[in-house]
Amino acid sequence: MSDKFDVIVIGAGPGGYVAAIRAAQLGLKTACVEKWVDDKGAPVLGGTCLNVGCIPSKALLESTHQFHKTQHADVHGIQTGDVTMDVKKMVARKDKIVGNLTGGIAGLFKANGVTLLQGMGKLLANKQVQVTAADGTASVYAAENVILASGSVPVEIPPAPLTEGLILDNAGALNIDETPKRLGVIGAGVIGLEMGSVWARLGTEVTVLEAMDEFLAMADADVAKEAAKIFKKQKLDIKLGARCTGTEINGKEITLKYTDAEGAKELVVDKLIVAVGRRPQTQGLLSDDSGVKLDERGFIFVDGQCRTEAPGVYAIGDSVRGPMLAHKASEEGIMVADIIAGHHAQMNYDVIPSIIYTHPELAWVGKTEKELKAEGVAIKVGKFPFAASGRAMAADDTDGFVKMIADEATDRILGVHMVGGIASELIAQAAIAMEFGSTAEDLQLTVFAHPTVSEAVHEAALAVDGHAIHMANRKKR
Ligand code: FAD
Ligand code: NAD
Repeated sequence: MSDKFDVIVIGAGPGGYVAAIRAAQLGLKTACVEKWVDDKGAPVLGGTCLNVGCIPSKALLESTHQFHKTQHADVHGIQTGDVTMDVKKMVARKDKIVGNLTGGIAGLFKANGVTLLQGMGKLLANKQVQVTAADGTASVYAAENVILASGSVPVEIPPAPLTEGLILDNAGALNIDETPKRLGVIGAGVIGLEMGSVWARLGTEVTVLEAMDEFLAMADADVAKEAAKIFKKQKLDIKLGARCTGTEINGKEITLKYTDAEGAKELVVDKLIVAVGRRPQTQGLLSDDSGVKLDERGFIFVDGQCRTEAPGVYAIGDSVRGPMLAHKASEEGIMVADIIAGHHAQMNYDVIPSIIYTHPELAWVGKTEKELKAEGVAIKVGKFPFAASGRAMAADDTDGFVKMIADEATDRILGVHMVGGIASELIAQAAIAMEFGSTAEDLQLTVFAHPTVSEAVHEAALAVDGHAIHMANRKKR
């Protein structure tokens, strides 16, 4: 094998593997370096997302949602008797899905002619990449261009050090193989709510401690308020303004010490998940003379097109600024591969959908009402509840709403925020509309099939001008 490549990508997560495939498709001689190996020493592709993130968490969410629906099938007249969950089988199913997908990437690399270099990648000066294999052998490769896609790792907190089988990060949380009686979660963010939901559905008493006083501060206030109401009904006990001060292990139990507005408290749980955010993974990635700089928060410093300070070196995904989302990482990978191949490419950072896969799901794209008001933008807002959707009623899935925000002067859609059973699918309609610069009227004039849950998007667009059909409009225009 010649040791000179057009492109070397470091990291095979959704940023890196997508960048590598795109670069190879564009005719560039491409290699991808990945350090992750399984217990047999075989390379593990797909990064956080496929192995210990998006996919396994969604597999568990789907299994427990099906369990919950079966338990409540009586609403359709279906009599089931006692419904039980084989947790080990659920976890094995999750592992099988992960195995299929990660193996699939190896196949895609082969099909596209991407060379996989197993080992720890380190960027040296002049776009040289040193790869140190698991057995310690180091090789150096040269590249015209390097893409750093080293992702992120969970933040750890001193009061709750990870403890095998008891105090867990996101990876450990995905492998709990029997239903705990009591689960503590530190952090009411995306992982906390998703993993909390998995176990609450199986009957675990779930307590979530959130340091901030405001619930889901990143979401539109209407979404956060509705979600808080629904999670309460689902028996997720979310304590705001609660800071963990220490943990004590007593046999198989954990005593969690925390303070909230009322003072110092304690809680005894059987498992504790720490989900307080993630930080960029750059340890050992850069030599002192690589020319790449980190910003003040430890992220690799890049411009709007993911160029680092070192010419010909790019960085993408969780290790650079912006939301830590798989689709953001992948789109950056595609943009950078296109730029390297000499094409014009840019990414629209204003239209990146966010989703929390609880049930109902929380999804949004664009700006919140609060952000737009703070910017002094005159807006009009339309909101349509799923309770008024025939299809949602048929599915017995009527919680939530679609909220659309448009510019008062231009009618352009500036944000769409949803709580709903399949909000993760509906939000794509809003993202497409916003990407094409649609106005609320464009969606009002679009024909939506009946009966579909998507009609709520149509109705929310109509509601922007007080013209929703299947509800009484508060504001008439
Ligand atoms: P990663 O996926 O972290 O991949 C980086 C890869 O680089 C890893 O394989 C790592 O081993 C490798 N690497 C690092 N350094 C080196 C080196 N020096 N040499 C060689 N290899 C190296 N996002 C969503 O959009 N939707 C979701 O539903 C979702 N769910 C999630 C659930 C959980 C529990 C978690 C933890 C995350 C979730 N995310 C989700 C976030 C998503 O996983 C990340 O945004 C995404 O994986 C980032 O992709 P990446 O390629 O930048 O990094
Ligand atoms: P997060 O940033 O979503 O939430 C962390 C929460 O922990 C915040 O609410 C924060 O205020 C709180 N917190 C921080 N320190 C605390 C402390 N000491 N005590 C109590 N609370 C504390 O982070 P996460 O849930 O760990 O997820 C990490 C990243 O992974 C997210 O940024 C997200 O982008 C990504 N992710 C995405 C999805 C998805 O897209 N559905 C799912 C899971 C994870």
